[in-house]
Amino acid sequence: MKNKGILAVVSGFSGAGKGTLMKALLQNYDNYALSISATTRSPREGEADGREYFFLTEEAFEEKIRNNELIEYARYVNHYYGTPRDYVEQKMAEGKDVILEIEIQGALKVKEQYPDAILLFVMPPNALTLKNRLTGRGTETEEVIDARLKRAADEAEGIEAYDYILINDDLDACVEQMHCLIQGQHCRVSQNLELIQQMRSQLKEL
Ligand code: ADP
Ligand code: 5GP
Repeated sequence: MKNKGILAVVSGFSGAGKGTLMKALLQNYDNYALSISATTRSPREGEADGREYFFLTEEAFEEKIRNNELIEYARYVNHYYGTPRDYVEQKMAEGKDVILEIEIQGALKVKEQYPDAILLFVMPPNALTLKNRLTGRGTETEEVIDARLKRAADEAEGIEAYDYILINDDLDACVEQMHCLIQGQHCRVSQNLELIQQMRSQLKEL
């Protein structure tokens, strides 16, 4: 029987490079499924509904909350963001390693519900690089960039709740390290309980 997939949560300050890392991880390796979140923020140029996010109205998002369709949700700089439950459960059952790219409040709620989830926090090499990346991306107004940098300072207070830090300096090195950390989870005892039971019965029959 195929083992259940790993649930990996990836967080990090806005502009740290999470989206870029996710893209490279999925391009380089096979067994990953990236969860697509729902949000009430507007699509950026080049983003498509159902690809980067499911873009919803506040009313539609709140209905999903009421119907318990989300594993977790949070407010981030004036908008809702949340993780649809069905996709995550289905892909994990298929043995896929599922990635949630979500902010810190959501990450903590996921850990409560899925204690075996691995929590990764992506950091830029330094704060100035973060500001430059966020500005260089050119997708947000100065006001929103300021709000996101303030939010980064708040989020930095919660990093100890994570299992691992990944420094996104050299992109390829960071992707490789992320892959290694997630794949390492397959060796956890809690991930192999059936195998252990199987071995116990085989040993009794010797
Ligand atoms: P996030 O999803 O964390 O908000 P993005 O993936 O959008 O961040 O990256 C923010 C900006 O930084 C983008 O313009 C991206 O091209 C750039 N970037 C990401 N990773 C690196 C890296 N390792 N080195 C240099 N620039 C990077
Ligand atoms: P952005 O607007 O830059 O795409 O995302 C803003 C923040 O929302 C990022 O920190 C991102 O990780 C987070 N985020 C994206 N999807 C979800 C989600 O489903 N739940 C939570 N809690 N945060 C999310």
